[in-house]
Amino acid sequence: MNAVQGDLVDPFGRVIRDLRISVTDRCNFRCTYCMPEEGMEWLDRDDVLSFEEIERISGLFVQRFGVEGIRLTGGEPTVRAGIVTLVEKLSHLGVDLAMTTNASRLTALAGDLKAAGLRRLNISLDTLDRTRFAEMTRRDELDRVLAGIDAARDAGFDPVKVNAVIERGVNDDEIVDLARFGRERGVEVRFIEFMPLDASGEWGNEKVVGQDEIVEAISAEFPLEPVAARGAAPADRWRYVDGLGTVGVIPSVTKPFCGDCDRVRLTAEGQFRTCLFATDEFDLRSLLRGGATDDEIADKIISAVSTKWAGHQINQVTFTRPARTMSQIGG
Ligand code: SAM
Ligand code: SF4
Repeated sequence: MNAVQGDLVDPFGRVIRDLRISVTDRCNFRCTYCMPEEGMEWLDRDDVLSFEEIERISGLFVQRFGVEGIRLTGGEPTVRAGIVTLVEKLSHLGVDLAMTTNASRLTALAGDLKAAGLRRLNISLDTLDRTRFAEMTRRDELDRVLAGIDAARDAGFDPVKVNAVIERGVNDDEIVDLARFGRERGVEVRFIEFMPLDASGEWGNEKVVGQDEIVEAISAEFPLEPVAARGAAPADRWRYVDGLGTVGVIPSVTKPFCGDCDRVRLTAEGQFRTCLFATDEFDLRSLLRGGATDDEIADKIISAVSTKWAGHQINQVTFTRPARTMSQIGG
């Protein structure tokens, strides 16, 4: 094991503490804001990083650069065969190991994931209406997802966070219902502003429901008070004045939190990205497979982080969408 080499610091003085790893580009859902119904081109199996490769890169980030959190995502991480084994391998790194999932497989997997050392689960759920759920995910699986949320709680994940992407004209009439659901089930709902990473390219500013509007809608029904500053976490949080839990908003579009960003990303095929919206990628897989030493890989990571930009420019005319969509990057 190598000693910690030093913090990974970007040109704006931000220290990298969080690594998001996409373990697959595949998914069993086809959420309209993320993937097309058909026509996704999947990576060849051989192109996807193996567990050993993921473990090596993760070890480097933790042991050399002091990364404190790893989040497994995708695509849908639970459709990767052997995902529990990967969690088990990474749990030995001793960091805050988390996963973002659509919950469809959690009734089968939640207990095993917990036993393997997964510490936190974020679950995506954008609507409580079965018909709308089937429209938004193109799968009639609301009941399975709700059961997955219960399975996560039963397995001892606490808190369970539920992410809801809100799109104007699609599910913005459910903000209060989703907040109520969180209060009743004892989960923290986090509303996410719709971002220009959809495969259909239909994103537009008019489809974004901003943080102020979301908070106003909830607090009209359930009064809220702000929780202290979020630090590097993406969500602004509020607590219900009556003590029934907390709620968050991830305001990527209307109030970007780039100034506090401590995240970097690795795609399923081993491309390193310094921002969700980055247009450049750094190929770590070819180093891994070409016999590079840990020092050589670490050097590549350091030089990539030296290009991390101050922030995305969604609200400016200069904004360029990345070539990849959310499921191909790993949200
Ligand atoms: N399949 C898993 C899931 O859905 O939770 C993990 C991967 S998914 C790409 C990660 C997160 O990105 C989910 O919470 C999803 O709702 C969110 N997401 C996907 N497309 C988005 C978009 N265009 N804008 C905002 N959030 C998006
Ligand atoms: Fe799959 Fe998650 Fe994208 Fe939905 S948001 S299509 S569940 S990767």
